[in-house]
Amino acid sequence: MRIEVLRIGQRLVRDDRVTTHVALISRAFGASKILMYDANPEIKDTLSKVNRTWGGDFEVEIIDNWRRMLRSKKSESYRIVHLTMYGESINDVEEKIRKEDKILAVIGAEKVPREVYDMADYNVAIGSQPHSEIAALAVLLDRLFEGRQFQKKFKRAQREIIPTGKGKRVMDKSTA
Ligand code: SAM
Repeated sequence: MRIEVLRIGQRLVRDDRVTTHVALISRAFGASKILMYDANPEIKDTLSKVNRTWGGDFEVEIIDNWRRMLRSKKSESYRIVHLTMYGESINDVEEKIRKEDKILAVIGAEKVPREVYDMADYNVAIGSQPHSEIAALAVLLDRLFEGRQFQKKFKRAQREIIPTGKGKRVMDKSTA
């Protein structure tokens, strides 16, 4: 299953830290790409550096028209999964969504316009309490990949962690 993430709307005061975390979660939890509206372009450099060090080919694209992007992804047969606390419970829909081939997960940074709810194939709640797009995205990706995302090998990594119960073990492949 290919999953891309679309984040729409930044707050008036740019929340670059949250933006970065949304991108890092997308990458680390198995998504292939993030499309960001009104985000600081430096995010692309940050994620390129992360890819260089820790591997993989996660993509970041800054977009200027999220409505057009939604329409275009729909025409490419992506199913739109909009994360909102008002949606159907993830517990009730995860099995069905797992059968889809291509997913565009949509998260908001502020109030999400009504048309997103209408365009979505699934409006999905990660619990019916307000929390955060970072947490909601992490849970969605984990439910859809069922934990397998953590076995994924990130190709061409310069550094690879060797999991250990104590301390830190890191293999530096750039000198190996
Ligand atoms: N009050 C805002 C609204 O009406 O959309 C909520 C903004 S919230 C800080 C930012 C984003 O987090 C939401 O757009 C949604 O994608 C996600 N989110 C927050 N709580 C959620 C929940 N319980 N289930 C699913 N997504 C959630």
